[in-house]
Amino acid sequence: MDGLTTRIDSVREHIASAARRVGRDASTIRLVAVTKTQPPELIAQAWAAGLTDFGENRVQEAEAKITALIDKRPQITWHLIGHLQSNKAKKAAGLFDVVHSIDSLHLSETLARHRTSGDAVHHERLPVLLQVNVSGEATKEGFALMGWETNFGVLAAFLEQVERILSLRQLEVRGLMTIAPWAPDPEAARPVFASTRRLRDRLAQRFPSASWDALSMGMTDDFAVAIEEGATIVRIGRAIFGER
Ligand SMILES: *Cc1c(COP(=O)(O)O)cnc(C)c1O
Repeated sequence: MDGLTTRIDSVREHIASAARRVGRDASTIRLVAVTKTQPPELIAQAWAAGLTDFGENRVQEAEAKITALIDKRPQITWHLIGHLQSNKAKKAAGLFDVVHSIDSLHLSETLARHRTSGDAVHHERLPVLLQVNVSGEATKEGFALMGWETNFGVLAAFLEQVERILSLRQLEVRGLMTIAPWAPDPEAARPVFASTRRLRDRLAQRFPSASWDALSMGMTDDFAVAIEEGATIVRIGRAIFGER
């Protein structure tokens, strides 16, 4: 086995053992391999080793790779996981299968508009996740939700925006995404993941007609904790491809 296959197997084992620790079925956890900065040849190897979900954080960079791997397009799910500027929404709406980084009503509306206009291929709704920032870390994108569990105003403002996003018929909201602040001890991320999960449960209660199944949380350093706290999608780069 080559190094890549060994690392993929090792990540899968760690996913499975984290799931076992909390009595979850590992098959309900989707592994998104984060391929930013990695060349298409390496992505093709990862695909040959059995990976089918790839995450990119820049539209331009992703476009080049999606184009290079166009023969595998039907078997690959491409996830946009990085911040999306409105002026790239048109391109993103035509390129990606899932967008994890919806962080404003304005972006949702722009994306929805482009999903319809002129693009006959995409009559299906675009699956999206709402990116939330429950920790208040200034450098993170996402809807500002610090303090939502004690400050009803914070939650109410978000619910109002979610209601409007849910009314956009070109988008299909599937759940939430979060990035925990980096810390040397992955346990530091646990309260962030737990709070994101509680927020998801709250949304599911408030808007039962939408599906809130997806919880995209956990990266190389903290994915085991994220799974213990309910992650259904983990986004892993370095543990698979090595340091960037
Ligand atoms: C880069 C990135 C990841 C993967 O990070 P690793 O530490 O390499 O696993 C996950 N999510 C987002 C949003 C990223 O930008």
